[in-house]
Amino acid sequence: MLAHRLDGIPPTIFTEMSALAVRTQSVNLGQGFPDVDGPPEVIARAVQALETGQNQYAPGPGVPALRQAVARHQQRHYGLDLDPDTQVVVTTGCTEAVAAALLGLVDPGDELVVLEPYYDSYTAMIQMAGGVRRPVTLRGPDFRLDVDELRAAATPRTRFVLLNSPHNPTGTVLTRAELQAVADLAVEHDLVVITDEVYEHLVFDDHEHVPIATLPGMFERTLSLSSAGKSYSVTGWKVGWATGPAELVGAVLAAKQWLTFTSGSPLQPAIALALDEHPDFPVRLAAELGAKRDLLCAGLTDVGLDVRVPEGTYFATTDISALGWDDGLAFCRALPERAGVVAIPTQGFYDSDAGRHLVRWAFCKETAVIEEGLRRLAGADLSARA
Ligand code: GLN
Repeated sequence: MLAHRLDGIPPTIFTEMSALAVRTQSVNLGQGFPDVDGPPEVIARAVQALETGQNQYAPGPGVPALRQAVARHQQRHYGLDLDPDTQVVVTTGCTEAVAAALLGLVDPGDELVVLEPYYDSYTAMIQMAGGVRRPVTLRGPDFRLDVDELRAAATPRTRFVLLNSPHNPTGTVLTRAELQAVADLAVEHDLVVITDEVYEHLVFDDHEHVPIATLPGMFERTLSLSSAGKSYSVTGWKVGWATGPAELVGAVLAAKQWLTFTSGSPLQPAIALALDEHPDFPVRLAAELGAKRDLLCAGLTDVGLDVRVPEGTYFATTDISALGWDDGLAFCRALPERAGVVAIPTQGFYDSDAGRHLVRWAFCKETAVIEEGLRRLAGADLSARA
């Protein structure tokens, strides 16, 4: 019964793997959601909104207090000056921002240069918009951007770069030099850059998140997407936003109004409060996640996996070849029975075979949960021939 626009798009792997975790009572190191909620004051503000009559439609572009708080956030962190009335739109999570951006901007046949592995919603939405993806592969072990490959991906039909940094699933945080290469390409070919920066605050060590919109000449051709879910540990709230020049933000709004009309109103003032009054929350979260990253990466190394230590996000990618496996999906489907643990195969995020042997593990979990997962892995036979 499925429409052709969904041809070949499988159900999202996150749903399959989280259902598998529940069914097998496994430790879920798959889907990226924290097991501790965000700031209590922020949750209390949402409750207050629910109880004080803020339950009817929000304005189309979002509750003004949140749009203003997003503009202040972009100014405070990145020095970007935005008009909250024309250059900010609130969306139902960054996933809707991606969908509305692609539906609002991409014409059938337009090509988009996309980092591979790509988050699964990008491919689905590019296809639904009739666009054509031109992958540029971030290759292990370091998963850096190959500038020659980037430049070779652009053709006369290319109109967009769809960027994601900090990058899910590899944990790569694009450097200023890598971003400059993207910017140079965009200027040369007159491309619009759509950039998903939901892990903007979750970077480790001395890595720095640089929004590509801050590079010289890039603001006017960049649509930046983000959300509160990751920064404030409220992934289920689905509050995101798109920012940039009015004509790009306007295209998002033009499509968004037919997707969800407006986004849930009572959560928006709470996220405004989070951005304005709890800027330290993501900083603390990143510090805690840094320690959890080290714990998880050390444990995964101990069980014989080759681990890429991530620079940002809350995911670590491993190569499972050393255990004799060449198929991450088969590995992840066997893992609950072998070890009582769930992880995410990333091969579905590739067009090429470059990710067949890669598996992603989330560390946005309580330390005891990560320790239990590692204990289970250490006690299991993980070799391909077991
Ligand atoms: N972004 C989350 C992850 O990568 C999952 C979101 C989803 O399930 N669509 O794990």
